[in-house]
Amino acid sequence: MTTRREFLIGAGAGLVALGAGKSWSHPPSRWGSSGSSGQYQLELPFAVSTWSHGLAANEAAWTTLQSGRTALDAVETGVRVSEADPEVTSVGCGGHPDRDGHVTLDACIMDQGGNAGSVAFLEGIEHAISVARLVMEKTPHVMLVGEGAREFALANGFPVKDLLTPAAQKSWRKWRETADYQAWPQAADPDPGHDTISMLAVDGFGDMCGACTTSGLPYKMHGRVGDSPIIGAAMFVDNAVGGACATGVGEEVMKTLGSFLIVELMRQGLSPAEACHEAIARIVRRNPRWKDVQVGYLAADKQGRCSAYSIQPGFQFAVMDQTGNRLLDAQSWIRPAAKAQE
Ligand code: ASP
Repeated sequence: MTTRREFLIGAGAGLVALGAGKSWSHPPSRWGSSGSSGQYQLELPFAVSTWSHGLAANEAAWTTLQSGRTALDAVETGVRVSEADPEVTSVGCGGHPDRDGHVTLDACIMDQGGNAGSVAFLEGIEHAISVARLVMEKTPHVMLVGEGAREFALANGFPVKDLLTPAAQKSWRKWRETADYQAWPQAADPDPGHDTISMLAVDGFGDMCGACTTSGLPYKMHGRVGDSPIIGAAMFVDNAVGGACATGVGEEVMKTLGSFLIVELMRQGLSPAEACHEAIARIVRRNPRWKDVQVGYLAADKQGRCSAYSIQPGFQFAVMDQTGNRLLDAQSWIRPAAKAQE
């Protein structure tokens, strides 16, 4: 898997094309100083997701969409690929543990009717997203956490699994040698491994759904819950407008309710690119330490306009429609050239 460092080095490259494709539209924008809005026009149906492992997730989502199933099935099936992949170190099995060595998962899902389900601080169950879906479909609640979420999963037949892989355990032990038990690494490294998978999909019926799943910030405090299970923070869908989702330092996303904000801005007429830019601007304006933070947003509207934007360079997102599956570089508040000079 490509590392965050490699992302940073490759960030100036712009489009990273995978597969054959037709030309992608870059409408002029008043936002990006590069003169390009970083906005793309997708054909419906489509699936879009965060980071390079989004490519494999998109493939699974696409197969689901092609078989005539719903966007809800597609986003669940898609992000389950990342959850099951031990090489993806911020999601499901293989995810970084907290500072005490526990892998704890957060996830949320939303359907085209505005229904939502989520789990937080879930241990020992690989497919947190499927538990979140069951919370939505089988309970009167939106969110279950910790032991209660785990009991609910077990009662519904989810198998128990040790999610701490030998590789993740090794990295954690190494971190413990020098970290002085600090759970807040981003001052030293603003991009310590933000690989949360968030996905949006529109199906053949024209409905949009979304999903988000993560093991959270590496070496977080035990008990810490991030943005990923918070509806409106890490992910929000309004089937009349579109959806948005997030990756990065969850605390910043939660304080600004970024995904809800982006959808509301799109409702008011901003493009996905403009709305993502504004959500990042809210963080930059609010937090004097914003240069030490990475947050990335990905948004798509019901017409298939899609964009992503982050604070640091290096955020990538994967988009798939009938023209192919592609990995794209998001534009960022800090330009890659400025980052390279630091
Ligand atoms: N947003 C996730 C969290 O704060 C982490 C990430 O995307 O890196 O838990």
